[in-house]
Amino acid sequence: MVIIVINKRIEELVNILNEASKNYYELDNPTITDQEYDDLYRELENLEKEYPELIPSNSPTKRVGGKVIDEFSKVEHTVPMMSLGDIFNEDEVREFDARVKKTISNPTYVCELKIDGLSVSLLYKDGKLVRGATRGNGVVGEDITHNVETIKNIPLNIDFKDEIEVRGEIYMPKKSFLKLNEERRKNNEAEFANPRNAAAGSVRQLDSSIAAKRNLSTFIYHLPESNKYNIKYHHEALDFMKSLGFNVNSSIKLCNNIDEVIDYIDFWTKERPNLPYEIDGIVIKVDNLSDQEKLGFTARTPKWAIAYKFPAEEVLTKLTNIEFCVGRTGKITPRADLNPVHVAGSIIRSVTLHNEDYIKEKEIMINDTVAIHKAGDVIPEVVRVIKERRNGSEIPFKMITNCPICGTNLVKKENEANYFCPNNNCDARKIEGLIHYASRNTMNIEGFGDEIVEDFFNMGYLKSIPDFYKLDKYKKELMELEGFGVKSINNLLDSVENSKSNSLEQLLFALGIRHVGKKIAKIIASQFKTMDNIINAKVEDIESIDDIGSIIALSIREFFDNESNIDMINELKELGMNMEYIGSGIEEKEDFLNKTFVLTGTLTQMGRNEASELIESKGGKVTSSVTKKTSVVIVGDSPGSKYDKAKELGITIWSEEEFLNHLS
Ligand code: NAD
Repeated sequence: MVIIVINKRIEELVNILNEASKNYYELDNPTITDQEYDDLYRELENLEKEYPELIPSNSPTKRVGGKVIDEFSKVEHTVPMMSLGDIFNEDEVREFDARVKKTISNPTYVCELKIDGLSVSLLYKDGKLVRGATRGNGVVGEDITHNVETIKNIPLNIDFKDEIEVRGEIYMPKKSFLKLNEERRKNNEAEFANPRNAAAGSVRQLDSSIAAKRNLSTFIYHLPESNKYNIKYHHEALDFMKSLGFNVNSSIKLCNNIDEVIDYIDFWTKERPNLPYEIDGIVIKVDNLSDQEKLGFTARTPKWAIAYKFPAEEVLTKLTNIEFCVGRTGKITPRADLNPVHVAGSIIRSVTLHNEDYIKEKEIMINDTVAIHKAGDVIPEVVRVIKERRNGSEIPFKMITNCPICGTNLVKKENEANYFCPNNNCDARKIEGLIHYASRNTMNIEGFGDEIVEDFFNMGYLKSIPDFYKLDKYKKELMELEGFGVKSINNLLDSVENSKSNSLEQLLFALGIRHVGKKIAKIIASQFKTMDNIINAKVEDIESIDDIGSIIALSIREFFDNESNIDMINELKELGMNMEYIGSGIEEKEDFLNKTFVLTGTLTQMGRNEASELIESKGGKVTSSVTKKTSVVIVGDSPGSKYDKAKELGITIWSEEEFLNHLS
């Protein structure tokens, strides 16, 4: 029974993957994402490993690429053009190293960028380019000489008379891809899904004038018959091809061990967006060619090389529902529930849909398949709806008219995109307000996470801001709660007590006044110095401050004109809350103010965290990567590649000593 089910799944996977490959390789028009393809491929590979007797003859795990199109003349590859095995995380990189080490002791690796284009074979005879061919199915490719000849950095003549074949990748630079799609949009032609498909679609044309217009480029990375030219190492082959005039990528690196390989991967994972062309991973190759020979091949991939694939930054998933959250200011935010998906290293279960206009603009419906994007630290978002996957089960979005928590009619001010619950006593607003009050950015009352605040609210201990400071009355009851003890409650009460001495700007931000964020709170507090001065300030007084506009001034006035807010402030005063600006230790300094700093290497006088805090305390900002926007790079001992990048971009560099001088 189990076998029947497995067999059925294998058959299903083979059919889906073969259909996808046809659309991808033959029609240059993918119907599923690479991530979906790779996930299904992995599932098939695992099943085939466990049940080798069930492997069908048409399995994609046994073949390279797609079918060769009949319109082109066929080219038989003397040395097969293979694919590469895929790996997706650091553990798998180390497993690859361990596998290699079973055959080779102390392997050295060459790391290269995995250019996202299509592979090409170039044959030269008597110093002349005589043939360009696609990989095709690995054994037979398509003759695309007429198109290859139009690519500017492919030399038509080389200074080498023996017959020689080189291989590499044809790709379309990001800029050309955007331009091409813009033109296609204007002409009502279908856009290409990505630069890889655009490059493939351009090269596999019978009319060479099309490829000539498309600004294609190449990187050459493989010399199939290196031994013919007495070459012993892959990196030597690269140097040799470069000397012949081929465009060899300059980011190639020789790595002495797998840790260096992992550093290379980490570096390019961050740097990838700054490249002018797309890469979809890193290729790791054993450098010594006789070691490569010892390691050999599987049916479709070499065992001496592997492709580390970057985590996808965009994946497709189903949007299963739209819910509404009520924020502390009463703002209603629609939020989409998603079938959980892995994007760029984290699992995403929901995304904000911001407001009604946003949903309408993106034409989002419940049950739609959507593309989710997340890169690095960026908050995930819906990029677009995949309308081709609609099947009639989609439900149009409808904005609610009443607060989902208290039922009050929602209001929307003219020219504003957001709806608000106007009920100050709405439980959702109160809970969000209390969470905001205790959070790290505001009063920083340690231990009060979202759940604790919500539980204490629901149990009646914490209904308003002053209640934080009355919690000690319930100490006994709180200690008896499940999950709490003497120590944790004492810690909570200590943090509450400590928060009383916070500077005015923290309190001002914590109160949750509309339009008053961290920066504005700081400006207001440092200007007015005491809470009473703010309470008594007229709109004109507030407005006269630089950076403060009338909307903010009115909002502050509105808040303090509300008697219940004044009662709350008075209660906080009585409970011992500091109401004065003491400044949060920020002693701004021109050398640092509003500048962006990057630290690299080891500092001898202090740790990274301390250095970052000092920079921030002087009004500067610390970021992790060097870009054109970086103001200063501070360089300690043994600096990394950030130092080189800073020099390359001409960014100001400070030694540790200079940094200390600027601080003092
Ligand atoms: P691959 O793209 O994963 O890796 C092999 C290829 O990498 C080589 O053939 C070469 O062209 C290229 N490459 C780029 N830089 C290189 C370098 N420096 N050194 C060596 N090679 C380099 O394998 P593949 O067989 O070409 O394609 C399989 C992949 O294509 C799948 O993993 C999937 O992501 C994608 N695919 C997607 C669909 C879809 O429907 N979306 C369908 C089929 C395949």
